[in-house]
Amino acid sequence: ELRELNRLRHEPNRTRDGTAIELLANAESREDIAEAHALGATGIGLYRTEFLFLQRMELPDEDEQFRAYRDVVLGMSGRPVTIRTLDLGADKADRTGLALRGEPNPALGLRGVRLSLARKGLLETQLRALLRASGYGPLRILLPMISSRSEVRDVRAVLLRATRDLRSEGHEIAEHVPLGAMIEVPAAAIALSTFIGEVDFLSIGTNDLIQYLLAADRNNEALGELYTPLHPAVLKLLRDVIRMGRMRGVPVAVCGEVAGDAAFSPLLLALGLEQFSLHPTTLLEVRRTIRNCDLERLRAHAPALMRARDRAGIERWMHAQLGH
Ligand code: PEP
Ligand code: MG
Repeated sequence: ELRELNRLRHEPNRTRDGTAIELLANAESREDIAEAHALGATGIGLYRTEFLFLQRMELPDEDEQFRAYRDVVLGMSGRPVTIRTLDLGADKADRTGLALRGEPNPALGLRGVRLSLARKGLLETQLRALLRASGYGPLRILLPMISSRSEVRDVRAVLLRATRDLRSEGHEIAEHVPLGAMIEVPAAAIALSTFIGEVDFLSIGTNDLIQYLLAADRNNEALGELYTPLHPAVLKLLRDVIRMGRMRGVPVAVCGEVAGDAAFSPLLLALGLEQFSLHPTTLLEVRRTIRNCDLERLRAHAPALMRARDRAGIERWMHAQLGH
């Protein structure tokens, strides 16, 4: 089984009927980057920057952040790298004193891009470091916890100013640094048409999207099967976001855990997904599954999937796709 998987290290990501699918990697360490590179990941779809801020008392300055981001870019030797701005708060606590302590409801609190916008100096430092790293290879900037158009526009304004400043300081910066939004707050998915024109790409964070959509804590084991992607509301939202991205020519990835679970690959393909971002440890298994999938057939069965009325119905659909 392992040998068989290893043979897939050098095989392309495409369905049995020949459609190319992008398998990007989620990464937060040097090891993840090396592994992603070795396994032939299309690029990095989600680089979490929280770790730079954890386990320490003082904030990393612009130079330290720049070196970290530049190393990620260099580590992928020319393949695109998507780096997410700081997503502290909620379950991601720090010791620098940045994230608020004792919020009554941290999952609904000042986290992700909200914290960045509340601490403009922090955001500006991180964006400057990212822009400087963009001089070393293709880099995209991803914003966590976007819930409305104004947040994207506010970040874009800081980004434009930082770009101008850095150029006048003599730094080499990429001509174009794409700015994207995580879709992980239900409101952002539902109101996507109001701000899709403001972003260059989208990445669906199913871990949080499911949590907020189903009002089910992603880390509370007592909830058991209440926290699941196998709910008609989740499928509908995924389908709608993927569809609108396609209509508007904005690439859409899924970077939550479901993208790295091969059991969900046929379902995501049926919903129209063409970019998966997953941890390198799951890449070969998902590649193998995708290579066994007949995309035309799965898409033809998408309406039946969307008609499923409960988890059991969705599971029956998944089961019926096995071996096709
Ligand atoms: C997500 O919410 O799905 C996601 C990818 O981000 P994180 O797990 O870091 O919140
Ligand atoms: Mg998230």
